[in-house]
Amino acid sequence: MDKIEQLRKIIENSSSIVFFGGAGVSTESHIPDFRSDTGLYKRKYPYLAEQMLSHSFYVKHPKEFFDFYFNEMIYEDAVPNKAHLALTKLEKQGKLKAIVTQNIDGLHQKAGSVNVLELHGSVMRNYCTQCKKSFTLDETIQLRDKDGIPRCDNDQAIIKPDVVLYEEGLDQHIIYEAVNAISHADTLIVGGTSLVVYPAAGLIQYFQGKNLVLINKESTPMDSQATLVIHDSIGKVLDEAVK
Ligand SMILES: [Zn+2]
Repeated sequence: MDKIEQLRKIIENSSSIVFFGGAGVSTESHIPDFRSDTGLYKRKYPYLAEQMLSHSFYVKHPKEFFDFYFNEMIYEDAVPNKAHLALTKLEKQGKLKAIVTQNIDGLHQKAGSVNVLELHGSVMRNYCTQCKKSFTLDETIQLRDKDGIPRCDNDQAIIKPDVVLYEEGLDQHIIYEAVNAISHADTLIVGGTSLVVYPAAGLIQYFQGKNLVLINKESTPMDSQATLVIHDSIGKVLDEAVK
């Protein structure tokens, strides 16, 4: 039996699947993974990407922060790929209970998925740091001042994207929901992540179900513990396995 057929069987025999996704899910929608492409940013910016995406940098250098953020982190024209669409289908069939993602692009919701736990937040949500008014991504872009900093139309305070920056803590409620979903799943499908970035590896430890499926182009430290390992494109594999 080939691996796609094995995955089909696992899905068929599961009733409570959780998907855990990393950057590889987004790169197939042509959103680059800034962690794997430091060379590119080094040529364009005088700071490292991790530094520019830190809380202290955002506070000290808002102009440079938003310049990097809007130029490199926002892909307004990105559309869901086969992985997002297959997961939406699985949720509609009642088999997929939750998507836990490290991505911030909102593409799972764009594809129609409902229970999406965004560990690092979403570029789609933005709020005024003073009056807490919320703004869509489009509104936030429209409200950028002459320095490129988005400003609230009530009080001119900075509008901050609801994404978790370096040095900032993760939302404990989202972590709780993710742990809860993973610990109650009968199948955990992990895709598009090398499982080395915090908190991915830690969350996977809560899985107590039957089938751990790893789908990633490269091998991961968890490969030896998995029920099924597929080294291929996440979009291609899910598209073929989900009918
Ligand atoms: Zn405001």
